[in-house]
Order: sequence, then C-alpha cells, then structure tokens
Amino acid sequence: MPTEPSGHSQSTSRAESAGESDVARPFKGFATRAIRKGQDPCRSTGSTIVPIYQTATFTQEAVGVHKGFDYSRSGNPTRSALETALADLEGARFGSAFGSGMAAVNGATSSFLRAGDHIVATRDIYGGTFRLFSDVLPRFGIETTYVDMADLAATRAAIQPNTKLLWIETPTNPLLTLIDIRAICALRRPGQIVVVDNTFCSPFFQRPLELGADVVMHSTTKYINGHSDVVGGIVITDNADLAAQVAFHQNAVGAVPGPQDAFLTLRGAKTLALRMREHERNAQAVAAWLATRDDVSAVYYPGLPGHPQHELAKRQMHGFGGVVSFRVRGEATRALELAKLTRVFNLATSLGGVESLICSPATMTHGSVPLAKKAELGITPDLVRLSVGIEDIEDIIDDLESALDATLEEALVPA
Ligand SMILES: *Cc1c(COP(=O)(O)O)cnc(C)c1O
Repeated sequence: MPTEPSGHSQSTSRAESAGESDVARPFKGFATRAIRKGQDPCRSTGSTIVPIYQTATFTQEAVGVHKGFDYSRSGNPTRSALETALADLEGARFGSAFGSGMAAVNGATSSFLRAGDHIVATRDIYGGTFRLFSDVLPRFGIETTYVDMADLAATRAAIQPNTKLLWIETPTNPLLTLIDIRAICALRRPGQIVVVDNTFCSPFFQRPLELGADVVMHSTTKYINGHSDVVGGIVITDNADLAAQVAFHQNAVGAVPGPQDAFLTLRGAKTLALRMREHERNAQAVAAWLATRDDVSAVYYPGLPGHPQHELAKRQMHGFGGVVSFRVRGEATRALELAKLTRVFNLATSLGGVESLICSPATMTHGSVPLAKKAELGITPDLVRLSVGIEDIEDIIDDLESALDATLEEALVPA
C-alpha cells in the first residue's frame, strides 16, 4: 500500500483490509493484480468495486481521530486504490497519482530538484516534457542537457557535477528509438536519480524499476486508462525516501486527480494485460504489412526483426507495444492526405486508447518544435504515426490499404 511516508492521511482502513489477503497469499500474475490489488471488497458495504468517494473532506470522530483520510487533496480512498494497484504493477510499493501526465512529470522532477541542479534528458522526449524542462524549470534555476541516450559515451559526457536527475523515455516518440535502461543506470553516480517515462510501454511491456531505475512515471491518459476518456498521471517508486518527497509534492502542489478520474483509470487498468496483448498483436501485423509496400519507405516498430534495436527490445521489454510509425513516398502532402482518408483510424493526437489513431507528428504532436530541430530528429512531413487500436485487424489493414491506395498517385511523383 502506498501509504504516504510523510504521514499524510492515506488509506489505512482499506489498506489494512486489502493487506490481509495480500500478506497471506500475494497474487502473482499481472492480470490478476491489475484486477485485485488494492481493490478488496468494501468491508462496511460489501461493494465489489472500489466506490467513487466523491467527497472533499472526511468527518472526524474527535480532533485528529479519523479513518486515515481527512481531506481529499491529501488522500482519497478511490485515488489510494489506484495508486496501490498501479504501483504494484511496476513492482513497487509507492505511487502518487496526478491530474495529468505533465503534472506527474513535474512531480517526478520538481520533487527532487532545487535551483542549481541539472537534468540530463533524452534528446527526443515528449513535447510537453521538453516545454516544461526548457521553458519552466530554468526559471527556477534548473537546467537540462538533451542528449542521444542511445549513445552512452555522449550521455556520460553530458553528466555534470551538479547533475541530479537522468530522464529516460523509451521507446521515443515518434521514431521508436530505444534507450538501454540498464546501461544508463550503470552511469548513475551516488545521489543521482534515474527516472523513466514508461508511458509508451505500460508496466505490462516494460518495468524499469526491475532494470535499476529509481522512479517511473506514466501519463495514465494513454495505455493505463486506455479508453481516451481521462487525462491523468502517476509517479511510482519503491524507494521510501523518494516516495515521501513525491507524496509531499503531491499534497503541497495539489495537482491531484478527482475521484471520478481515479475510478475510471482504475477501471481501465483492470484490462491492461488483455488490451496490451491485442495492441501488440495488431501493431505487429500492421508493421509487417506496411513493410511489404513499395510506397512506404520506412517502418519503425521495435517488434520488426529489422529494427536496429530489436535485440535490445527483446531483452528490455516484455512486448513491443502498439505504436507504429512509417514514412510514405511521394509528395510532402501525401501523409496529410492519408490521415484525412482513414475511417478506422481517427485523426487525433494521443495514443494508447482502444481506438486506432493516426497523426502527422511534424504538424501535430511536434508542431511547435523548430523546423531545424525537427529535421535533426527526423520528424519530417512524410512521417505518419499510428496508435494501433484493438479493433479487428482486417478492418485496420483494410482502412490503411484504402487510404494508401487512394493517395498512390502522389507516391508516383519522381523523388
Ligand atoms: C502524453 C504523454 C505525456 C503527458 O501526459 P498528459 O497526460 O498528456 O499530461 C508525457 N509523456 C509521454 C510519453 C506522453 O505520451
């Protein structure tokens, strides 16, 4: 149970009841834990499902005498159940949920840093994280160096005496480059913290704490909730000292999710194993099919044997995920045309929901990145990113085939 080590009220009554069965005989399997961990039936009503505790405050029997909760910013039973369950899926004891993935990114950095500290971060990190690190944290005296973390020598060289935090995102967005988590952890010096943004894999396909990372964060908006109807985030660690700092930040800054969002995210997470298997099966089929087309010049998916880091993917991940990117041949406008024509794939940013999404990273997710930097990262107009959903694979491929075929003329323009 992620009881807040700082002593803020967190579930004790439910935690203890959940703890009884867990201590007696902990559930082993991932799918079982996603459904059961922290989610024992309510002792007072028998409610099978963790209720939505839609309350701001909790009535006390006497001053300071309560059932583990006093105010919902500091702790709420629905949120506690979510934090317990998700922490367990990463193999950890402590989780602090946030109102968005970005609030979680802020929680996983600001909690540990002060003015004068330095971050070494993956070169092609999520755009929102880049904006926070580049436009917000410097105002508080925290600087970031971006480096290609697949290059260990370059990463080592980027570490300064005041480096406090190494920020890893793997696979990266949208080109699905991998970073060797174990190898980066081996560069960590005493006092430095390795944080992994594990959003793209979810704990079903990658568990960074087992590879040596100190902290994991997720945008639960994506695979963990999985239904594109909640924005949320979480920071997870098994280190009690770091957990106390995050829990303090969560309460002090107050960017917490409401009970409705916590409930929906917990409900989504119950089927994480089932969904991830389907996402992967479909993504693998889409990637293999795209690779057979002459009008597609490149396919990026760690599950393809031709992916330059396929061996690392097999070693580090338990599956290859549901995001596939590819480049179309032809006019610069072809990718945009294509994205307009799909019907199974909605034209939208975000990823990780049950429905398939298509986007043009150069204009959508990375629209605000300066052109030169985009070119350097390989985010050019011919690039298409797919979040492959869990619809029937025949419909998914049929949809892509129709859209690609309908824009074939544009592919025939001499390069
Ligand atoms: C979406 C996302 C975030 C930000 O999460 P929000 O829930 O949108 O605030 C951070 N990291 C990655 C990798 C993401 O995909």
